[in-house]
Amino acid sequence: MSSSTAGTIALAVDMGGTKVEAAAVDDSGTVVGGTRFRAPTGPGRSSEELAASVTSVVDQAIAALPPGANLAGVGIGSAGPVSEADGRVSPLNLPVWRGFPLRELVASRVNVPVALRMDGICIALAEHWVGAARGYANVMGMIVSTGIGGGLILHGNTVSGPTGNAGHIGHVEVAGFDDPCPCGGIGCVEAIASGPMTVAWARRQGWQGSTGEELSASFAAGDPIAAAAVERSGRAIGQAIASATSLVDLEIVAIGGGFSHVAPQLFDHIRAAIATRKNFEFVTKVKVVPSGLSSDGPLIGAAALIHRAEVLS
Ligand SMILES: [Zn+2]
Repeated sequence: MSSSTAGTIALAVDMGGTKVEAAAVDDSGTVVGGTRFRAPTGPGRSSEELAASVTSVVDQAIAALPPGANLAGVGIGSAGPVSEADGRVSPLNLPVWRGFPLRELVASRVNVPVALRMDGICIALAEHWVGAARGYANVMGMIVSTGIGGGLILHGNTVSGPTGNAGHIGHVEVAGFDDPCPCGGIGCVEAIASGPMTVAWARRQGWQGSTGEELSASFAAGDPIAAAAVERSGRAIGQAIASATSLVDLEIVAIGGGFSHVAPQLFDHIRAAIATRKNFEFVTKVKVVPSGLSSDGPLIGAAALIHRAEVLS
């Protein structure tokens, strides 16, 4: 006998450069307890090992579903680039996967529909659904962490582009910087302001630490190099957001990811850089806020590919 109170469940898969996670997420955007599983990925692994990590977390999460669960589908958010039309992925940090058929691999484990989008789009969906961008129709969700990623919702619908890679805010070049980027660009915001790149810049100025957490502690202790590093990264992120807002008239940008917590003042520097566009009120109006999501955000966003399918373009 099926429960009359149970809503639908989506299985969410978050495919990243260091780990893959899977969990069941209910239709209110909550991870179902006891269904979250994680396995390592990373550039040191073979294609077969990466695939085994994916299938192990998917199989474990399926096995942990509550009895009688109504599984509506599987949503996969993957590090990009992706090929949305055929569900293939080529994560920049997993070079053994180029055009890997991730959607097909997951579909082979389940008998429900499987949707795949770039992880940045999933983050934007999660912020729009249950996070800091609820009630807004023109949103960028952004992650500042090991890399910098993002995704767009415009006029209430996701924007994927013909290949599925729209929203790569980390690879917008910003003026006044010449840091080389693995994508081939010069001065991409990811090459300037990601956690590891900010740490590397501080070290070049003579700072002695080696992690984002240490940089955060140095900032809190008043270290002038740490302060300059946070200002520099905030300025670059702000320039990128101002340019993105010039292009698509954003209302709100919600920023999460581990390095976004380096110091609260990071957001002040981001906003100050945007404020320099003083003669463009449609740019300076954009709100920049911390993510409203917990560490479940990427999984909730992947689940939104099923639960919030009406928002997908
Ligand atoms: Zn780049």
